[in-house]
Amino acid sequence: MSHPRNPLRFNVGFIVSQEVGYSHQFDFDFHKLQVADDLELRHFRGVAHVGRTPQGLYLQAHFEAQLTVECVRCLSNFEQTVAFDIEELYAFSRRSVTDSGLILPEDANLNLRPLVRDYALLEIPINPICKPDCKGLCLQCGQNLNEADCGHMHPQDESPFSTLKDLLDL
Ligand SMILES: [Zn+2]
Ligand SMILES: [Zn+2]
Repeated sequence: MSHPRNPLRFNVGFIVSQEVGYSHQFDFDFHKLQVADDLELRHFRGVAHVGRTPQGLYLQAHFEAQLTVECVRCLSNFEQTVAFDIEELYAFSRRSVTDSGLILPEDANLNLRPLVRDYALLEIPINPICKPDCKGLCLQCGQNLNEADCGHMHPQDESPFSTLKDLLDL
C-alpha cells in the first residue's frame, strides 16, 4: 500500500523568516484520520498555533477526536472521545533542543502524526468500560449480559457490591 497523503504534515517555513513573537494558526477538521497502522481517529478537530521564538518554533495545539476501544467487561467495541493538548518546541539547532528532542527539519515540514498518535493513545483509559453499569459477559456461556440474560448465576450477583446495592435500595 502506498502512503496516503498525511494531512498532519504541513509546512511552517514561512514562520521561520518572521520576527520573534509571530504566530500562525492552523485549523484541522477531518472526518477520518489514520494516525498509525493500528489507530484510526474519527471526527478529528483542533487548532495548532506555531509561534516564532529565538530558539525555534513553538507548537501549541489542542485536538479532539473519537476512536474505537474495546470494553474490558463485555468485549464490545465502543466510541471513546479523547482530547489532548500538545506543547513542543521544534528547535532550530541541537543547542536549543528540549527533552522531546524535536528539531525543525530542513524542509520546515512539521509532521504531527507521531505526536498525535502518542497523545491519543495516552488518553485511552487502561480499563475502558462501555458504560458504568456494563454487566459484562457470562462466565459460563459467554452471553453479553447487556443484551440478554442467559439465566446462569453470575458471580457479580454475589459480590459485596450487590449486597451494598441491596442495602441502598431499601
Ligand atoms: Zn461493556
Ligand atoms: Zn450464561
